[in-house]
Amino acid sequence: MTVAARRARDVGTWHDEADVVVVGFGAAGASAAYEAATAGADTVVLERAGAPGGAAAMSDGFIYLGGGTPEQQAAGYDDSVENMRTFLTAACGPEPDLEKIAAYCERSLEHRDWLLARGVRFLGTVFPHANGTSPVDGEGLMFTGGENAYPYDELATPAPRGHVVQDGKPGGAVLMRLLAEAAEQAGARPILDTRAERLVVDDEGLVVGLIASRYGDEFAVRARTGVVLTAGGFINSPEMVAQYAPGVRVTALRLGTDGDDGRGIRMAAALGARVKRMDAIECALPFNAPRSLVHGIIVNRHGQRFVNEDTYMGRVGQTSLVHQGGEAYLIVDEEHYAPNWLGIHASWVCETPAELETEIGLPVGSLVGTVAYFNEHAERGDDPLFHKRAPVLTPLRGPLAALDLRASTFIYAPFTLGGLDTTVEGAVRDLDGEPIPGLFAAGRTTSGVAAQGYCSGLSLGDSTLFGRFAGRSAAGVKP
Ligand SMILES: Cc1cc2nc3c(=O)[nH]c(=O)nc-3n(C[C@H](O)[C@H](O)[C@H](O)COP(=O)(O)OP(=O)(O)OC[C@H]3O[C@@H](n4cnc5c(N)ncnc54)[C@H](O)[C@@H]3O)c2cc1C
Repeated sequence: MTVAARRARDVGTWHDEADVVVVGFGAAGASAAYEAATAGADTVVLERAGAPGGAAAMSDGFIYLGGGTPEQQAAGYDDSVENMRTFLTAACGPEPDLEKIAAYCERSLEHRDWLLARGVRFLGTVFPHANGTSPVDGEGLMFTGGENAYPYDELATPAPRGHVVQDGKPGGAVLMRLLAEAAEQAGARPILDTRAERLVVDDEGLVVGLIASRYGDEFAVRARTGVVLTAGGFINSPEMVAQYAPGVRVTALRLGTDGDDGRGIRMAAALGARVKRMDAIECALPFNAPRSLVHGIIVNRHGQRFVNEDTYMGRVGQTSLVHQGGEAYLIVDEEHYAPNWLGIHASWVCETPAELETEIGLPVGSLVGTVAYFNEHAERGDDPLFHKRAPVLTPLRGPLAALDLRASTFIYAPFTLGGLDTTVEGAVRDLDGEPIPGLFAAGRTTSGVAAQGYCSGLSLGDSTLFGRFAGRSAAGVKP
């Protein structure tokens, strides 16, 4: 199905019309619809599925918030807008969107209150160790981006910012129930089972609506003030993945829904919209629970370490997938070995590094050298290559086990971060960097706060915050 825009004069019948037309009733769409409707705009939300939710409803419900939230304070952590900005600028790079990061940090406390006003509840207890979405025992806060690991612990004061939505699991389902209810109570009208196919423009290039498909029939919706694209990313478009993020091809799992087919991005691109960082992906590699496994070292097919094992597991996964082709092995000694929390056991167990490298098929002497070098420094409490810290920095002793972390075997859970280039306010930029009149976007249809680096919670965080901004902009009011 083509995505080329249609001229308004070629639309025979408008089947519906509103001031603001939102495409996609997920995290960004519900937030946009709520704000547009609250600003007084007649608002419709088209959703291709039979219910609101999107990937957000499947998610763990981590929302990245900081700057000194009451939950952070209750858990005994100091944070400030500046501290959060320093961390995100380093962790989301290279070349992150500094304007979006600034707005994200400055509005974080206000956004938390906005979420609470919609019925979301957070908790001020912390799981102090893990760097990622490992299982939590009911705690409300986690380190979800490597804040407490090198190099970020030296750049900014470590503070946990992954706020977990309470009152049910997964937290994302609770979040989406609340946001969808809020949007509808504010007056937004959902039109379900309706898939947006292409935009409609007038003769001056103003976006004035879109053509959708509803039960096999064409469904044209006119937008009096703006269209907001919040249709998710493109992790489930094999063509776009092959074109932009080919590293993902080796993973069996994709984090997203069928709606993450890139259609929102392509509809806008057909109108000359600029895309940004289309190669960027987040990829969780949930190896790091139980925590004792972090005492191990992760090596590539050359038997060499390539990452700090104690950093955020999304960073480990991204590094492994993008830079090592998804070929990695976790080497852990007897004292610290336990089956992974997903029930995954060691694939190889040997008395010595030499035997283990042979069993795995690593180059002769590679693992022997890596373990000797690691142990020599770990004895002194030092990790000159990747700066893993005590207490998880311990020499590897005695029999060694290896977990097979290859993407063909283990769980890699990627989703895309690239998308439309938008302003903080949600306007979609054209190839010259100018706003395309009448067109707005947010969420994973856009490139957001995370440029290349990612922290769990940033996607729900920037989808809801910048979704709000885009909804207000489309309604003609300041975000
Ligand atoms: C298992 C899992 C766990 C996750 N955990 C977290 C987490 O803890 N924290 C976090 O920040 N992120 C998490 N994520 C990522 C996060 O859920 C998504 O990145 C986020 O939902 C993006 O929001 P969105 O509004 O852009 O997209 P979505 O929430 O997916 O909403 C997009 C909506 O648009 C609809 N749509 C798509 N195309 C069309 C079309 N052409 N016409 C009409 N409707 C359309 C879709 O059906 C969907 O409802 C997780 C994802 C998964 C799958």
